[in-house]
Formats: sequence, structure tokens, C-alpha cells
Amino acid sequence: MTKNIVVIGGGITGLTAAYRLEQAARESNGQLSYTLLEASPRLGGKIRTLYKDGFIIERGPDSFLERKTSAAELCKEIGLEDELVRNTTGQSYVLIDETLHPIPKGAVMGVPTSFRPFITSKMFTPVGKLRASADIFIPKSNETGDQSVGAFFRRRLGDQVVDHLIEPLLSGIYGGNIDRLSLFATFPQFYEVEQKKRSLILGMKQSRTKPLQKKKGQFLTLKNGLETIVERLAEELTLGDIRTGMAVTDVERNGDRYDVHTEEGVIQADGVIFAAGHRNLSEVIKDEAIVQPIVDMPSASLATVAMAFREEAVEGLKDGTGFVVSKKSDYDITACTWTQKKWPHTTPEGHVLLRAYVGKPGNEGIIEQSDDAIVGIALHDLKKVIQIHEAPLFSVVTRWRQATPQYVVGHKERIEQLKSALNEHYLRFVLAGSSYDGLGLPDCITQANKAAETMLSFVQDKKILS
Ligand SMILES: Cc1cc2nc3c(=O)[nH]c(=O)nc-3n(C[C@H](O)[C@H](O)[C@H](O)COP(=O)(O)OP(=O)(O)OC[C@H]3O[C@@H](n4cnc5c(N)ncnc54)[C@H](O)[C@@H]3O)c2cc1C
Repeated sequence: MTKNIVVIGGGITGLTAAYRLEQAARESNGQLSYTLLEASPRLGGKIRTLYKDGFIIERGPDSFLERKTSAAELCKEIGLEDELVRNTTGQSYVLIDETLHPIPKGAVMGVPTSFRPFITSKMFTPVGKLRASADIFIPKSNETGDQSVGAFFRRRLGDQVVDHLIEPLLSGIYGGNIDRLSLFATFPQFYEVEQKKRSLILGMKQSRTKPLQKKKGQFLTLKNGLETIVERLAEELTLGDIRTGMAVTDVERNGDRYDVHTEEGVIQADGVIFAAGHRNLSEVIKDEAIVQPIVDMPSASLATVAMAFREEAVEGLKDGTGFVVSKKSDYDITACTWTQKKWPHTTPEGHVLLRAYVGKPGNEGIIEQSDDAIVGIALHDLKKVIQIHEAPLFSVVTRWRQATPQYVVGHKERIEQLKSALNEHYLRFVLAGSSYDGLGLPDCITQANKAAETMLSFVQDKKILS
């Protein structure tokens, strides 16, 4: 009998998992089928590209890290190799009070690994620098359990380096509050460095094999926008039953199988890949004891504000690609990218495309204001550091409510508990996606690959597929 796997969620995670099932289904002689159920009317989840007046505007993610290879590999596999574009590198800044400070060369996620740029930086006071240098002498901590990223770096490098550099850089990736963020779930490598080398500065310096040089861009995107991946993956899914606008309301065990409930009826599944977020998981698994580890897991909200200008309208953009904002300074924006510099292919000649973020912890309500109000707030903040002489030609505000799962201290342990409870009571119900083992697109793709592999090994073990 044909075995059916249901994938819940049609973001990059669900689409990648479905693509792996498609490949297996093609070789299964009709023994394997799959269904992809996506609640919203479109596939892609957080990947959303807008094409307007010659601009390519990413409303959600704009690129992925090349170093985590799964995303670039997937692009190559689905025929998009020639469309990959690397970011232009350039100086990045941190906005502190009313000054854009260059991020010191050699800083790895904010940890100084080169003395001169750090000592000469005006970003820190002499006392701040002295306190950071104490890292060289401070003994390693006896802490063996998880701890917050904030607490860890404050202990080693002091508050100023954290507030002026590490926090603005990390909250651009993880949102939320770094004094609650789990070290083990985000940057376990820094914990390892402390354990092995004691000093972060010396340890990171030793692990940096090459002398400082102009780096090539570390991020990749697609020349026609990230949504190209979504379109290509969707084209590949020829054997599956792909349904958008169909939210799963409940998943119930039914003997050896699952009943997947939607508003339009029940779909029978031999296995489920759950590729939606933790908030959705606690809606569809009604067994509170199982989802207990993640019911209180927070998520952060933010909005992106893309603003297109004539080139003449904007002056004073420093060389480089943009800035992040220190939370201690009085701004509503948290970052801004000079998109036409970082990604020249996105912007027609003679124009500027600024993309700002709003919605820092404690100020997330800002995203509920009107589009005009949010654009006004972003312009007001930007005008403190650059000159903007004209209104934008157009602007695009995108709200991301409760969109960034927060990996707070103890995250890894809670996800292990959740997975082992599912393994015990919901065998062949596999989790993947940004709520669980990594937020970035490559992390999601890696999880999807593993989830599909696990699911296929379950069915193969049962000799369902030859
Ligand atoms: C503004 C922003 C910028 C970002 N920038 C970057 C970046 O530059 N680089 C990077 O690597 N990462 C970035 N990220 C993170 C990355 O975009 C996400 O982690 C990733 O896209 C999540 O993919 P996913 O498939 O796991 O989840 P999602 O994209 O959220 O997809 C989950 C899908 O499940 C569906 N769903 C939910 N409940 C149900 C249900 N009950 N039934 C059926 N379907 C359901 C949802 O509608 C959704 O489509 C960014 C995120 C945001 C918000």
C-alpha cells in the first residue's frame, strides 16, 4: 500500500523536506506519496520578494551565510547556481548616540582579535577597553550549564563591549534580549574557546589562521530575489499533493497512523514532518504534557521598512553597507542597510534603497502603528546620521509578528525533551524549522534534509520502500 507523508508548513523548511520526499517518491514505484499543507495562500513562509519599479525588495530574509553550506548546495541542486550573487563587502558601523562608529577590524561577532583596531576605536572609553582587556587574565568560569549570551560576554569583556558592539550585532540575528539568549543554542563555540583557552581574545586570535585582509562577502542571495528558491522548489514538487490556504488544526494518532485535521477534512498520514513554528505546534498537538517544554517559548516581533529614493535625495552615506544601533542609544530603528551598496543588483542605477528595522525588545508595539507612522519614525532616526532631502519614491513596511523564536537559556535541553516526548508518543512525527535547531535559512534547510532522511529511514525500516 502507498505510504503518505504529510508535511505541515510551506516555508523553506517544509518545501525542502517536500523536495526530498519528491526525490524518494520518484524512485518508489508508487509506494510513497506526500502532501504539503500550508495555511497561508502562498508558499515560502518568511521568504517574500517584492518587485517594484525595477527594485528587488526582500521583505523578510535577504541572503544566507555561505559558510553553512546547505543553502548554497540546495540552490545548485535545483539549477540556481548561475543566479547566486555574493554581497559587496564594506565597512559596517554601530550607531552610538549620534555617531556611526566603524566596527573594529578583526572583531569576530564583537570579540576583538586584533589589538590595534580595538585600541584605536572611539567606540569604547579607555575604561571600557581596559575592562575588555581583562579577558586575557580572567580565569575560566566553572559554569558548566547553559547561561545567557549577555552574562557570558559581560563576564569576560565587560558591559561596554557588550552594549556597544556584541549586543547590536547579535540582536540583528536573534532579535530579543541577549541577557536571556542561550549561549549553548547560539554560540557554543565561544563557550568551547573559554573552556579550552580561557581567554576569548587570545583563543579567537589563535584560531584565526590568516592575517587580516580584505574579505570576500560571506553572504549569498539570488539575482532575482530569494523567492526564486521557493518558485524552483515548488516547480519540482510534481508528484505531491500541494495545498495552500489549508491550515492544520489538529494531529491525532490513529493506531499506527495519524489523522491530520484541516478545516476541509481529515488526511491520513503514515508520518508527519512538522515544519511550522513552535506556537503552531502547541495548537495542533493537543497533548499538553508533550508540548509543555515549548509552551512558554517567546518570539520577537519586528518590521522591515524598505525606502526607495532618487540618488540625489540622500547624502552622507558613509562608505560601507550599513549600521546596527546600540540599544543603549535613543533610537527606534535597530539597523539599516544601504541595500544598493551591499546588493547592487537590487537597485536601478541612480537610486538608493535603504532598509531599516524597527521593533527592539520592550518596544515591539511600534510595529502596530500605521505604515506612514513607521516610515516617519525610520526617517526621523535616519536623518540624525544622514541627510535625506526628499520623501521616498515609495516605501514598503512589512510586519513580522511573533516571527523570531527566542532561544532563551535552556533552549537545547527543552527541545531535546520535546523531541524525546514526541519520539515516545508520536513516533514518525518529526520536527524541523526555525523554532528548534537554528534560525538561519541554512539551518532550516539542514533540519529539513535530516527530517526527510529520518522519515524515509522509518518507512524503509518497515520495508515499505524496497
Ligand atoms: C525580517 C526577517 C529577516 C530575516 N533575515 C534572514 C537572513 O537574511 N538570512 C537568514 O538566513 N535568515 C533570516 N531570517 C530567518 C529566516 O527567514 C527564517 O528562520 C526561515 O525563513 C524560517 O523558515 P521556516 O520554513 O522554518 O518557517 P516559516 O517561513 O515561518 O514557514 C512556516 C510556514 O508554516 C505555515 N504554518 C503555520 N502553521 C500552520 C498550520 N497549522 N498548518 C499549515 N501551515 C502552517 C506558515 O504559514 C508558514 O508559511 C529572517 C527572518 C525575518 C523575520
